[in-house]
Amino acid sequence: MRIETLSVFPEMFEPVMSTSILGRARRAGIFEFEAYNLRDWTHDRHRTVDDEPYGGGQGMLMKVEPLAEAIEDIASTGPHPHTIFFTPCGEPFTQRTAERLAAHDRILLVCGRYEGMDERAYDYADERISIGDYVLTGGELAAMVVADAVVRLLPGALGDEMSNVDESFSGGVEGGLLEYAQYTRPADFRGKGVPDVLLSGDHAKVDAWRRANAIERTCRWRPDLIEGAGLTDKERAFAQE
Ligand code: SAM
Repeated sequence: MRIETLSVFPEMFEPVMSTSILGRARRAGIFEFEAYNLRDWTHDRHRTVDDEPYGGGQGMLMKVEPLAEAIEDIASTGPHPHTIFFTPCGEPFTQRTAERLAAHDRILLVCGRYEGMDERAYDYADERISIGDYVLTGGELAAMVVADAVVRLLPGALGDEMSNVDESFSGGVEGGLLEYAQYTRPADFRGKGVPDVLLSGDHAKVDAWRRANAIERTCRWRPDLIEGAGLTDKERAFAQE
């Protein structure tokens, strides 16, 4: 997979894209990464990418011309990149979105700044994504969130192929369940123990406990996920208790 970003702060990406799992996956050739500077597609001395909004109002907007030229140029270097614009007005980003994006050969992540973009720039978007109901100063962090969630789904990226299987939001019809509680040594920490079943060595019982625990935790913290989690009738009754 090839991941490309277009922003006015391309230098923000390198530390994240070269560290830990992402860095290892990149060095192993599991994905390629390139961060483009939008200012390289400006034609004035000041490399201007923003201007005042028509109709007045606070702040500046990103101009459409550099964005259009940059996206056209980047796209011309290979197969069409699936082009994502980041905006609080986009579709909420979920694990399902990450799974869908991981199937693309090439994605281009377009990051806003200032008060956002000239609306005509969105004609170049295949989709608009929001990473949550809050406002960031720029789309770079959103792009890193998406790149991280996508890369760890690529075959070989985690090293251990099973690591994705039981995680929060995996499985289910829509959202899956939250992950069950986990413990590691010591078995006693300041008087706080570990559920006996996890020390029993009985894998069937451990699996049953984990499933029940995942349902309990989802009911408590994310009841909105239960409906689409693909529960059996018996589990549904348990969830309603
Ligand atoms: N005026 C815009 C609004 O109210 O919707 C917010 C602009 S924000 C200050 C600047 C840029 O940060 C946006 O163009 C977008 O690229 C990015 N951004 C901010 N919050 C975001 C979010 N929740 N999800 C994705 N991108 C976000």
